[in-house]
Amino acid sequence: MRKILSLIIIIFGIIIGAILMLFGVYCIFVAIVDFLSGNTERAAIGAVMSFVSVIIGVSLIFGTLFNKKIMKIMSGEEYLIEKTFAGWRIEFDREATREAFTKLPVGSGCDCKTCRNFLKAVESFPKEVVDFFNELGVDLMKPSETYGSRGIQDINMQYGGWYHIVGKYLSGEDIWQPAKEPKPVKWLDITDDFAIGFTRNKALVPNGFPEPVLQMEINFSVPWVLEEPYR
Ligand SMILES: [Zn+2]
Repeated sequence: MRKILSLIIIIFGIIIGAILMLFGVYCIFVAIVDFLSGNTERAAIGAVMSFVSVIIGVSLIFGTLFNKKIMKIMSGEEYLIEKTFAGWRIEFDREATREAFTKLPVGSGCDCKTCRNFLKAVESFPKEVVDFFNELGVDLMKPSETYGSRGIQDINMQYGGWYHIVGKYLSGEDIWQPAKEPKPVKWLDITDDFAIGFTRNKALVPNGFPEPVLQMEINFSVPWVLEEPYR
C-alpha cells in the first residue's frame, strides 16, 4: 500500500515537474519573441517566469525521485530501526520480525528434556529479558536452536542457542571468534544470568524466514523447572 502511494507520488512529481519545465521552455520562447518585438518589460517577466518554473520543475522531479523516505519505502526497508547494543550496531524490523514469528511453531523442533526445560523456564524469565526480546519482536518460545548442559555441582542449566531477527549486522566484532587469534568479545548482559551477542553466522534459519536475516546468540543460565529430573 505504502509502495503504491510512493509510486503515485513519484509519478505525480515527474508529471508536474515535466509540465513546469515545458512551461518554462514556452515562457522563454514567448520572452524571446517579446524581446525581438521591442517589448523588453514583458520579455524580462517571461525570462524570470521561465527560470523559476524550470528550477521548480527540476527540483520536483529530483526531489521525489531521490527522496530518502520514498527510496526506503520503495526498497522495502522503511521499518529498519538502527540501534547499538554493546559493541554491535544492527538494523532490525520489529514488525516484520513479529510477523515472521507468528508463523513459526513453538520450540526449535527438538522435544528432548533440555529443550522442554528451556521452554517451560521461559514463563519465569525476568522482565528485563522479556522486554529486550519484545523490543526486537522476537518470540522467546521460538528459538532456532537451543542446547544446554549442567555440571554436577551446578544448580542452573547453561544454555546456548540462537534466534533469528529480520535485520542486518552493520558493525561490531562477531561473538563467535575464530579459534586462531580470537579477539576478545564480551556478551551483552541483560541480567546476571542472561546474555546475548550477535554473529554474522547464519545456521538453521527457519524455512521462509524473511530476508535480511540476522542471528542473535544467547548465553543463558536457567533453573531446572521440569518435574522430571535432569539425570
Ligand atoms: Zn533438544
